Amino acid sequence: MTAPSLRPLSTTTWAWVHDRIAWGFSNCGLIASDGEALLVDTQFTLAETQDLLDAIADSVPGARITTVVNSHQNGDHTWGNQLVSGAQFITSTASGVNLCQEMTPGQLTALSRSALSTPVAAYAAEHFGSFDFSGITVQGPTRTFSGRLELKVGQMVVELIDLGPGHSHGDVAVHVPEDGVVFAGDALFNGAHMVVWSDSLRACISACDTLLGTGAAVFVPGHGKITDRGGVTAIRDLLARVFDTAAGLAAAGVPLREAARRVSAQHAGQLAHPERLFTAVAAAYKDVGVPGIPAGTLPLVEGMADLAQV
Ligand SMILES: [Zn+2]
Repeated sequence: MTAPSLRPLSTTTWAWVHDRIAWGFSNCGLIASDGEALLVDTQFTLAETQDLLDAIADSVPGARITTVVNSHQNGDHTWGNQLVSGAQFITSTASGVNLCQEMTPGQLTALSRSALSTPVAAYAAEHFGSFDFSGITVQGPTRTFSGRLELKVGQMVVELIDLGPGHSHGDVAVHVPEDGVVFAGDALFNGAHMVVWSDSLRACISACDTLLGTGAAVFVPGHGKITDRGGVTAIRDLLARVFDTAAGLAAAGVPLREAARRVSAQHAGQLAHPERLFTAVAAAYKDVGVPGIPAGTLPLVEGMADLAQV
């Protein structure tokens, strides 16, 4: 397993990339100019966030992080916030209101160490049981925005884009126009299937269109390898095919769990975590108005855990 590393994308922009698509290993971004810096997201644990901050101190000496942009409020993008003292923490208004309905570090620890023999407990133990969430005090946003927000970081212009709902209820992308770089947060998963917490697969597709609409050439996903316009288009097109298949199954009256199995059989391909297709199909079912589809974190995790066992 390769360790994450801080990779230069220009003389002012870096990506902290894991190149792995297991749950919880998220990518970050840094824009630094004239001694000032903006960090895109922190890590899942304090130890991982300290590794990131140490790498920044080594590679970009003198860069003082005055702003953290959290792409959304899931723990794997925010639970290291407390280590960036004195910064402002910006996210979208929708993300600030919803806070991703995220479990606390204590709740996730309890679930992933639980002795229960339920599919959810087994799934949590498998994917989150090795993380150490001790010492975390969740630091939420101190500033929110809607639409677009332009910031100056030293000499650099940085554009924050409120993508609306998609992966979460209010995702934020960070666009660096001068470098043609977008930090997409979890609006993009590269190499794995997307988790859809927002109840709308259509919104995920339109978020990809918004990302492409920036004209950028380099896209840093929330998880997985850095990609290009072709990569984003391929992700978008897969989501559109999943939507079309799911909508057809909804029209035929196929129940959600069975539909998720059929969509997985058809579209899992080589990507990791095909069980996440449960969340995409549930979202598509809601998009087309099927009543009684579960919402919220736990029912969606139950659906993924169930599909993972098939
Ligand atoms: Zn994530």
